[in-house]
Amino acid sequence: MEDATMKIVDLKATVLDDVMHNAIIVRVDTDEGISGYGEAHGLKEPILNLKRFIIGEDPTDVERVMLKIRHRGGYKPWGSAVSAVEMALWDIAGKAAGLPVYKLLGGKVRDRVRVYCDCGAGVPLEPGGSPYTPEAYAEKARRRLRLPQKFTIFKFDIGLHGKQLYSVPGGVLEAEGTYPDRGHATEVGLKAEIECVKAIKEVLGDKVGLALDCGPGQTLPAAIRLAKALEPFNVMWAEDLLQGDYSPFTDVEAYKILTQSTSTPTLTGEHIYLRYGFRDLIEKRAVSIVAPDVMDVGGIAETKFIAELADLYGVLIAPHSLGLPISFMANVHAAAAMPKNFIAFEFHMADNPWWEDIIKGVEKPLIKDGYAAIPDKPGLGFELNEKEVRKHLAEGEKYFE
Ligand SMILES: [Mg+2]
Repeated sequence: MEDATMKIVDLKATVLDDVMHNAIIVRVDTDEGISGYGEAHGLKEPILNLKRFIIGEDPTDVERVMLKIRHRGGYKPWGSAVSAVEMALWDIAGKAAGLPVYKLLGGKVRDRVRVYCDCGAGVPLEPGGSPYTPEAYAEKARRRLRLPQKFTIFKFDIGLHGKQLYSVPGGVLEAEGTYPDRGHATEVGLKAEIECVKAIKEVLGDKVGLALDCGPGQTLPAAIRLAKALEPFNVMWAEDLLQGDYSPFTDVEAYKILTQSTSTPTLTGEHIYLRYGFRDLIEKRAVSIVAPDVMDVGGIAETKFIAELADLYGVLIAPHSLGLPISFMANVHAAAAMPKNFIAFEFHMADNPWWEDIIKGVEKPLIKDGYAAIPDKPGLGFELNEKEVRKHLAEGEKYFE
């Protein structure tokens, strides 16, 4: 009897240039001519290493394939490889079933998905000027408000995220300007952090949300002080105050002390691989909001599961993201099916003019009135634009070879 199940026959990856964190597009091919796409960041080798474990498997049994490779993932590049393959499997499963991925996750809870805009630091008022003055932050806020995407939440870097705290003479003890770093903010450091926030709020007002990426690496007492000093500004959240981005661990007890000390919502999680890394954070209500990254946490279904678990405990979710339209679409499908604890997912490419061009067959612009539309086409709902991808390949890189 002939075997009628679809089979994976190949896994390929191609590295792009000019994109933060080495964006990598992953393609899984099948014997039925259907291919699925995913996205990773970091290194190509851990991705290609997964090939031998998935060849011959039926990609439409997504979880069964994941059981072959999930334990081969881990922190950052290793987890990112597993996450990218997971996205590609869902893309194939959706295409094979003739359904958009969100339908396979349980269907959509919302008709469009809120996206928030990463802003970084300020913009210098004159050439060679500092981007870390309150005036520079205010100017960036004015420019971000004018963006055609009409975002409703903006996130700025203060403290140890970016260089704001280092720009203040005597602002921080011990921190040396490496990333990730650790250091204790002084009184002048704290006052400078708050001056920047005040300047941003004066521009943004109270009709749009302000989130702050503050670390990682603040000391617990400085984090508590900053979070309390932020209370009058009603920010959406203070992110990664203790650990987070590029931290290979999370001190859940310290986050719990911080969160219980303040009415400013706390957030972390972009560095965490798999639901197990979120269990304590969520069950102990150690942060107000979790921020898994679909490209690091283990993929689309993993992100959706964490949203469900968080919702049981009154914890919100605002997924971290920094990538191409491929992980963007993975986020859209995951978020479409999340419970009401979803806030928004992150968009980092407001200053990248070609960002949208590498996919086609979808409604553009991808972000309108602060939201992403949810594609109704099978799978993740886009086609790769080969011509545009070729323009941005890393040096020496061939297109899926
Ligand atoms: Mg962050």
